[in-house]
Amino acid sequence: MDFDLGIEDESFRREVQEFIAANLLPEDQRGPDFLRTWYDKLSEKRWIGFHWPVEVGGGGGSVIQQFILKEEMSKAEAPELGSDFMGLAWVGPAIIEYGSPAQKEEFLPDLLACRSAWCTGYSEPDSGSDLASISCSAVLEGDEYVINGSKIWTTAAHYARHIFLLVRTDRGEGKRYGGASVLLVPMDSPGIEVRPIPNLVGLHSFNQVFFDEVRVPVERRLGKEGEGWRVVMGALANERSGISESTEKERHLEKLKALARRSNRNGEPALADAGLRRELARYETLISAMRLNGLRALSQQLRGGAASTETTINKLLRGQLEIPMWDLAMGLLGNQAASDGEWQRGSLSFHGTVIGGGSPNIQRNIIGERVLGLPKDRSSGSGR
Ligand SMILES: Cc1cc2nc3c(=O)[nH]c(=O)nc-3n(C[C@H](O)[C@H](O)[C@H](O)COP(=O)(O)OP(=O)(O)OC[C@H]3O[C@@H](n4cnc5c(N)ncnc54)[C@H](O)[C@@H]3O)c2cc1C
Repeated sequence: MDFDLGIEDESFRREVQEFIAANLLPEDQRGPDFLRTWYDKLSEKRWIGFHWPVEVGGGGGSVIQQFILKEEMSKAEAPELGSDFMGLAWVGPAIIEYGSPAQKEEFLPDLLACRSAWCTGYSEPDSGSDLASISCSAVLEGDEYVINGSKIWTTAAHYARHIFLLVRTDRGEGKRYGGASVLLVPMDSPGIEVRPIPNLVGLHSFNQVFFDEVRVPVERRLGKEGEGWRVVMGALANERSGISESTEKERHLEKLKALARRSNRNGEPALADAGLRRELARYETLISAMRLNGLRALSQQLRGGAASTETTINKLLRGQLEIPMWDLAMGLLGNQAASDGEWQRGSLSFHGTVIGGGSPNIQRNIIGERVLGLPKDRSSGSGR
């Protein structure tokens, strides 16, 4: 693998670094308008939706430059590249691939200008990993779909303007996968009710959403009827590749090393313990593996491949890292752990990042079946 970037890509990296130095204010100097100004400046440079085609308003950036942009922003701990994470990471790309001209015109400009807020409705009370068993239904009546059922763990539903909704449009025999479609539904449609579900830390990030005779025009369907599974598989690959950034983990490891350097264990500096040093070295190795795996997926994309199922490997690695890293931090803090906000919040929140977008067992099934080509797990479906 060639790790060197071409001259053009190196000069793009410098351009991003200079932009950050000129525009990213230190946190204590940011006023209430900081984020709006930041997004406007990013928009001007077409760095929001940077890799989207120019014809739909994107930046037309190369895969490698998109990688550089995200890496530099993450290193600088800059805000996200746009306000609508789900909209930009998977709803927009799905609309670009499957959307009608009218859908592109209606939704993409708002996404790029940070005026949109999307949420994602896949999981149901009885269907999480096994998405093919969803029962929230949309029945065509004339030129409208009538939606009934419920979705759960819907992040951001309480402020989203639209939901990217996976529904069952056909219950026929053998239609587990073929009977699903995706609808783009306004959250202010009559018949939608959003009920909050506070998480372990007391934060309100996800919800249960109820649909009672909600009517949407047939033009709100994304792709063909019955094509929902294909649309969602592409969207999930984008979700997992977004989740799998290794730069963020490198930052966390640096913070953990700093904590280890200033901590004591049994009256000795904590770093005098060879077991602890070995553990830190193990994290560093896993993070390097994540980075190399990310680069492998990137070179696959450079050769014209799609966002790869190999990014599920990074999602799995991230879960394997997050749990012991936070446990170690809590151990180093000892009695102080209860009052150290940052590490405490992290240790209570990692379950979410490990499960969201698909649980570790499901990632293992995907890696076994779709990456390694092993026989299918017959005891249950392979999951989402
Ligand atoms: C922070 C967070 C945010 C989320 N946001 C959203 C959102 O915005 N929209 C949305 O639709 N959903 C969202 N989810 C839901 C998430 O996608 C599901 O929780 C996840 O897919 C698992 O489904 P489940 O909770 O129903 O668990 P289940 O599917 O019931 O799984 C329970 C356990 O059984 C295991 N299991 C299940 N099937 C198999 C199998 N075939 N082989 C081996 N093991 C298996 C799983 O690994 C898991 O350990 C979010 C979840 C979290 C934690």
